[in-house]
Amino acid sequence: MSSPKQFELLGLSLQQLTDVATSFGQPSYRGRQLFEALYRQRVASLDEASTLPKAFRTQLGTSGYTVGIPREEKVYRSTDGTERFLSVFSDGQSVETVWMPEGDLGESGDGSEAGEEELRDYRRATICVSSQVGCAVNCQFCMTAQLGIIRNLTAGEIVGQIHLVLNRHSVDIEKERINLVFMGQGEPFLNYDSFMQAVRLLHEGTGIPLSRMTVSTSGIVPRIEQFGKEPMRPKLAISLNASNDTVREQVMPLNRKWNIEAVLDAVRDFPLRSKERVTFEYVLLDGVNDSEANARELVRLLRGIRCKVNLIALNPGPGIEFGMPSDERVGRFKEILEDAEIPAFVRKPRGRDIYAACGQLKKAELVEIA
Ligand code: SAH
Ligand code: SF4
Repeated sequence: MSSPKQFELLGLSLQQLTDVATSFGQPSYRGRQLFEALYRQRVASLDEASTLPKAFRTQLGTSGYTVGIPREEKVYRSTDGTERFLSVFSDGQSVETVWMPEGDLGESGDGSEAGEEELRDYRRATICVSSQVGCAVNCQFCMTAQLGIIRNLTAGEIVGQIHLVLNRHSVDIEKERINLVFMGQGEPFLNYDSFMQAVRLLHEGTGIPLSRMTVSTSGIVPRIEQFGKEPMRPKLAISLNASNDTVREQVMPLNRKWNIEAVLDAVRDFPLRSKERVTFEYVLLDGVNDSEANARELVRLLRGIRCKVNLIALNPGPGIEFGMPSDERVGRFKEILEDAEIPAFVRKPRGRDIYAACGQLKKAELVEIA
């Protein structure tokens, strides 16, 4: 399938789109029209961009410009309503994007929407977004790590996978409550510029409020510092996953570069907005990091940090050597945090049957689905 060189428009800023328009001798306001069509209207092809003159669209098309929404190769549906989309990009690489109706707030909710529940007449969902094909970080409990790093996604590819899912569900962004969590495949802070460019486009273009976006990092300290200085940014989550360096090094080899103290120092310096909390994610691995002593150690570490903790019982998978803790162990761990007045939530596993849960995203064809 060889075709002339293609230029993908998705991912370009308003200024860049204006430059494209004027390079074709169009007035500069066509840049704004392109921006609106690509992001707000979420067109899948130039044909759908009916606010632009037909002649200009044809010019763009014959010059090799395309929108750049990935192709939907497959959708796996879980019995709990979760859907795992396999999106394929123009070079044949693919990532996974997870749609979770009703959000994944459940017990992990931050409580800010309590009370709205019965009054709600809009749909709510969370989309879990990938930032890289594979991941370089090599956490021992995560299936994405088994892929290694294949490549970064461009800003357009990050936006494109979200538009694919939004369009599939005909989401009206003005009326429905969509949360984005950058917690799919990859380490967003190792693809920082494209990730931030995507965030700006999703906010200013697509219309998703920053307050409904959360990025999770395994603890890339220099990028946490840089992220704190961004004038516009999502909320921050940190994958801590251990209560001391010995265990963290064992489960997250990255800890040799940036240990717990370095990560927590960066978090303490992080300029939180009023009422904002940092989320710490903690994957509970049976007999490894889930004891009462570990919980108390975690309490000491987090003292004085405005935070909450999301506990995630390990989602098992092929090649993962760790075990899933019992509900009792999870419950006891949570209790110890709560007794110390650290808000703690147990994340409900979503879509485990289709390998869509945390840490289970890998190339679909490489995972046997029962
Ligand atoms: N790379 C980023 C974001 C993606 S991972 C990061 O690591 O933060 C999203 C979350 O899933 C992380 O908190 C990670 O610790 C968790 N996770 C990874 N593998 C898991 C597994 N097998 N079971 C449960 N959670 C897992
Ligand atoms: Fe990468 Fe996150 Fe998986 Fe670690 S948990 S390997 S950082 S995707």
